[in-house]
Amino acid sequence: MGKGTVNMICDVAEMTALFEKSSNLDDFLQSVVGVVAWHMKAAVCSILIYDEETRILTLRATQGLSPKAVGQVKLRLGEGLTGLALKELRPIREASGAKNPHFLHIKGIKEERYQAFLAVPIRRGLTRVGVLMVEDTQADYFDEKDEQALKAIAAQLATVIENANLLMTLHRHEKAVKPKVKLLPKMIKGRAASGGLATGRATFMFSGRDGMFQAPADVPENLTADDFDRALQMAEQQLKDLQREADEELADVAQLIFSAHLLILADEEFSGEIRRRIKTGTPPAEALAAVVNHYVEIFSASSNSRLQEKVHDLKDLGHRLLENLTGGEREHGDYSGQIIVADTLMPSDVLKLATEKAEGFIVQGGVTSHNAIICRSLQKPMVMVDPQQMELFSESCELLMDGDQGSIYIQPSKEVLKEYVEHRRSAEALEAALPINEQTCTADGVRVQLFANINLLSDLKVALTSRAEGVGLYRSEFPFIIRNAFPSEEEQYQVYIRIAEAMGDREVTFRTLDIGGDKILAYHSEVEEANPFLGLRAIRFSLMHKDIFADQLRALLRAGAGRNTRIMFPLIASLDDFLEARDVLYSCMRELDKRELPYNRDTKIGVMVELPSAVEMIEDLAHEVDFMSIGTNDLIQYMLAVDRTNEMVSKLYLSHHPAILRAIEKVASVARKHRKDVSICGDIAKDPKMIPFLLGVGLTKLSLPPRRIYEIQQAIGHISMEHAVYVARKMLGFSRISEVEAFLEEATQ
Ligand code: PEP
Ligand code: MG
Repeated sequence: MGKGTVNMICDVAEMTALFEKSSNLDDFLQSVVGVVAWHMKAAVCSILIYDEETRILTLRATQGLSPKAVGQVKLRLGEGLTGLALKELRPIREASGAKNPHFLHIKGIKEERYQAFLAVPIRRGLTRVGVLMVEDTQADYFDEKDEQALKAIAAQLATVIENANLLMTLHRHEKAVKPKVKLLPKMIKGRAASGGLATGRATFMFSGRDGMFQAPADVPENLTADDFDRALQMAEQQLKDLQREADEELADVAQLIFSAHLLILADEEFSGEIRRRIKTGTPPAEALAAVVNHYVEIFSASSNSRLQEKVHDLKDLGHRLLENLTGGEREHGDYSGQIIVADTLMPSDVLKLATEKAEGFIVQGGVTSHNAIICRSLQKPMVMVDPQQMELFSESCELLMDGDQGSIYIQPSKEVLKEYVEHRRSAEALEAALPINEQTCTADGVRVQLFANINLLSDLKVALTSRAEGVGLYRSEFPFIIRNAFPSEEEQYQVYIRIAEAMGDREVTFRTLDIGGDKILAYHSEVEEANPFLGLRAIRFSLMHKDIFADQLRALLRAGAGRNTRIMFPLIASLDDFLEARDVLYSCMRELDKRELPYNRDTKIGVMVELPSAVEMIEDLAHEVDFMSIGTNDLIQYMLAVDRTNEMVSKLYLSHHPAILRAIEKVASVARKHRKDVSICGDIAKDPKMIPFLLGVGLTKLSLPPRRIYEIQQAIGHISMEHAVYVARKMLGFSRISEVEAFLEEATQ
């Protein structure tokens, strides 16, 4: 096997497998250095971990250096080449490390024989986590490919190390918390965040001020420490199975989401303490509850919000162990029959709980809307409520939630439940029998193309069953939002290739990163912006961070090799924006040529039209771009100056505002004049009442959530193009919003 095969260790599956085989973090790191050294055929591979408080890097695992050096070799930030790589957050590659004046010779670790040196920082955004390094006896041994591969591995290591670090801080704090007392009314009106109905018992997840973990009173007392060990082993296996399932279902975002559970399980201070208590005569369930609660208290009292978030992981683990211990009936880690009631949830929690079959989510305001988008993609209902409304729930009370209406029934009556069962049955019957046609045509036979908007890989299946003609918009930011650090080129490639492969020869349009606005990366905390929607969002972020942008572009180009893929830039405000972004893309192509990696040389390059400035510049843009797609979600927000996430101005957020109609028409007609492909991918494309207008101005390529394709196909089938043109002309002639509304009202009767 040659050195180039190192890429294979970059996929999530292999890292998960290594993690599974390890009993604790040090074991895991030791197996990582072993595997990396083997794949790279490097004489040495080492991992050093950084402690932010002391600003010291400590050697934690090595293959090749003296094992005695582990725990002993310590470097300050910036000290030696390794410390420098971490300080400056950049890889350092040297033909001969010792020749660099920064090289630090450390006695007694048998490093003298090595020449070639390569170190990459392990980072979570701008936070320093550690360093991964390789050395070899042969000078100039490592090349660019090795550097890329090592960066990819470092990115994955960051998640696990972060969780382990959190766990370590746990042994330092203490404080107790009190459970809440609640009342029970009948119905609560919240805000609809993700559609669908669900019933179940309320399961509380309040980070930091949660109730304690409670073991039921009827647990047999004759259980032994051996029973506990058996329960522990079962839990480990169950969690690994869950992780594997999540990897298969949600490869784009699942990355090691159960690693915190597994690390706690492997923590000797956790399981060892329970075992000790059992051996000294405490009944197992009591011992378990006492230790879990001890940890819950410490986590809850922590000022570190990431540690607070682990409280429900802990309680989840406690329940799992208890079920295993008592041979309970419930499937483990199974939240079926439960509705999660939480103050705040991280997107990774939503994913984890959805993987564990939670029925729905009720969350407090302040939750960022990407949680809602994830819920929609996972088809789980979500309702947002105010903190005062939160007080109305009590743990384990029966709930029925309607994610479309935003209603929550507490202890619903028999009648309400009956209605729910009937509604669910008819919805399922409808879904099962959807006769979606392969092609979409108007009543008079004009061909219309329906493409899918994809947020998570899980949307792909729906796109295929609903016969989408391709992907019109892949929102690439979700794998970024979920993770703890920027995904590497390699990691992104693994996600993008799944989409490109699933779509076969159908067209796939990848949109480059659109973060900022309401989509915040937890790990990239630059200054807080007063107006994030007017700030460093989308292409502006990418152009400001060209290394991150280039990683994504290379991954997209490579995933497109031999396929029909396109790349689209979001929030383009000027021709200059587009040309600058395209230049970065061209330089990525040159780099891939140099690296001799296959990619799609015919990638079409386009823009999203979602800013008034882009509409004004549309002629100029049309000369340069291969295609354009109208993003009305933002176009409305920016043209009408109405925040798309602000409930208070939601009545002003109008897709049928005359200015919006005219802007759409202008873009469509300029595209036609220049014979440029044009589509529309904002939510307007899933609104049946706006479809005649869109067709009438010549937009016959629509991209929408795949679950809505059937409905829109049906609507199109009932409209003739002649009528659509008439509707569009009429609507473009109105000056007042009220006139458009009256016309639409009449048309839909
Ligand atoms: C849009 O702005 O219309 C769009 C499709 O992009 P997003 O909703 O992801 O901002
Ligand atoms: Mg947009």
